[in-house]
Amino acid sequence: MDTSMLESEIKRRERVNNHAILWREWFKVFLTVVGAKGALPVPFNPKLNFFPTLTITSKDAHLSALYKKQGDVYFRKGEFMMAHKKYTQCITHAPAKSDLLAVAYGSRGIVLCFNNYMEDCLIDIERAKKHGYPNSLKAELFMWKAAAMQKLGKKKTLIDRVLDQASRWLRSDIDRAKIIKIRGTINSIKLSEIKKLKCYNLDLTNDALPPLKSRNPTVPGLSNSVGLMYSEKYGRHIVATQDIKAGDVIGIQKPYASVVKMNMRYNICWHCKEQTWTSIPCDTCSQVVFCSDECKKQAQDNYHDIECVVLCQTMAFGMRESFYVALRLVIMALKENNNSFENLKIHTDKIDNLKDPLTKGFIEGKLDPTKFESVYGLCDLSSSSTANDQCVTYVDAIIMLYYLGKKIELFQEDRPIELLSFLISQQSFVLIVKRFLTLVQYNSCNYSLLTSKRSLTIASLIEPSFSFFNHSCCSNVIRTHRNGNLAIIAIRPIKEGEQVFANYGAYWFWQSREDRHKQLQRFHFTCDCEACEGDWSIPEVLKTPEIVKNKSFTHGGPYMNKELLGILHEYITVCTYALAYIKLNKGRYHVAKLVGDFAKFLNKEYKNYNNQSYEVFRVGKFIEELYMLLEKLFFCLSGKIDYPPLE
Ligand SMILES: [Zn+2]
Ligand SMILES: [Zn+2]
Ligand SMILES: [Zn+2]
Repeated sequence: MDTSMLESEIKRRERVNNHAILWREWFKVFLTVVGAKGALPVPFNPKLNFFPTLTITSKDAHLSALYKKQGDVYFRKGEFMMAHKKYTQCITHAPAKSDLLAVAYGSRGIVLCFNNYMEDCLIDIERAKKHGYPNSLKAELFMWKAAAMQKLGKKKTLIDRVLDQASRWLRSDIDRAKIIKIRGTINSIKLSEIKKLKCYNLDLTNDALPPLKSRNPTVPGLSNSVGLMYSEKYGRHIVATQDIKAGDVIGIQKPYASVVKMNMRYNICWHCKEQTWTSIPCDTCSQVVFCSDECKKQAQDNYHDIECVVLCQTMAFGMRESFYVALRLVIMALKENNNSFENLKIHTDKIDNLKDPLTKGFIEGKLDPTKFESVYGLCDLSSSSTANDQCVTYVDAIIMLYYLGKKIELFQEDRPIELLSFLISQQSFVLIVKRFLTLVQYNSCNYSLLTSKRSLTIASLIEPSFSFFNHSCCSNVIRTHRNGNLAIIAIRPIKEGEQVFANYGAYWFWQSREDRHKQLQRFHFTCDCEACEGDWSIPEVLKTPEIVKNKSFTHGGPYMNKELLGILHEYITVCTYALAYIKLNKGRYHVAKLVGDFAKFLNKEYKNYNNQSYEVFRVGKFIEELYMLLEKLFFCLSGKIDYPPLE
């Protein structure tokens, strides 16, 4: 991070946080302390040298009411996705037993009814009733309930009973007119376009992700076809110990930790990462939602009991996304050590003092991906980062340790605590937290879902065994996910002794070498993969699927056979133009078979191409995209439906 980046980071934080004035002062001090050893701290405002006392009002009736109003505006405009989010925020901020809570559940239920999520609608309506929905609005609520039941084909006697209840709450002719209007609206609700996506014409009967054929004795998430090596140049890296075929699964592992992206936290269950329409709030904070009581309890037992308050407090500082991933890791590590930093330090010291770089973080000779040691032992490239960068991380570490420490009663201090003396007295713990903060920056990967148009990042994942794969711009494996697991799959035949490379998001096919290197800068290495060394040019003309359609691509090898070309073309339609394909609605694709076909093509034809060929690149990408199709999709609520304003 150079000075201008530090400046922009400060500016960003000043925009979003309530303690803007602190940053400039704190960073100034740390830049002096960290950046220039021996230099005296620059003079700065001593009043700002204290941690702010943050009184977190976790539930906030005022904010909740504001979200309700915003939700109504979006609802009237027919922007249901936003209306749903605002009503959800109203729910998370509403104090327990408040009218707002009941009303927001009711409103969200109606949004869902409009979008044909009838079961979900009924769930929210029941909650609205349970939380004391206002009598004056009950007639309408029961009408929506009856409508949803009707759409679901429930028994007439049951529906009549609900209609009876509706008429019991009817107060006036205005109500009656409204009921008639609702009835008309409900009849006109059609299966929304987006929901049709659920009926992708894909046959998923055979799971396309075969199990790991063998388990690596030292890294159990990987197969026996690869081994972990160490060299000065590559650090820890993965090498094929036997010939690997395209399509082979090289690793499957449940991530050690996964943290929902902050901008998705009102759409996605904080614990299980499922998209949820009928979320429930945390009892204490207003920042996260869960899909079920079960998930809420799991989160509470495993990390959120500590995370909850600390999350709210540190959010007031406008932290970077990676901060919250690190916070989760530190809490999980603490939980494995009886919530004691002293205990944690005994273990981290052991790892820090290990001489053998190959087995750093291993327990009894192997990696245990369920233990914090496996994460703590991962590479942390902070020594190559600039003083500015280190300074930001230092300050972040102190803030995390301070508020986390308060929560777990690491120190008992009633008087205000001074920043620098805190750093001095807690230095060894600050360094542990700082290490987690830095390793997240180098070792987290994204969990993304497809929407109808593009892929959307849902969460950040930390999975130690998959961090051992180095980057190449012409990688020979893909990272994907399936049923809550991360998976590594070969997209080329790989010869025994070859290094296995993943891709950190810089593909030779789409970006120039210069752009790729700029993008990879944050990992502190200069890529010297085959594509970078050879400075492969981007085949501009081959970028569009049109070329594939016209069968005019021959880059790097002979024509593909007609049959495969046919599949390729159809497949592009499925992947890239999913909606268009659904309209065509012909044939039925067996996904496992398609993956198999592409792998077969690669295994048979690879020798006729080189890595710098459109076909090899594209077919590999196809396999990746197919796996994305296999995973759940992220749905959006759609449609503008004319409806009178809600009271
Ligand atoms: Zn859940
Ligand atoms: Zn909470
Ligand atoms: Zn490269």
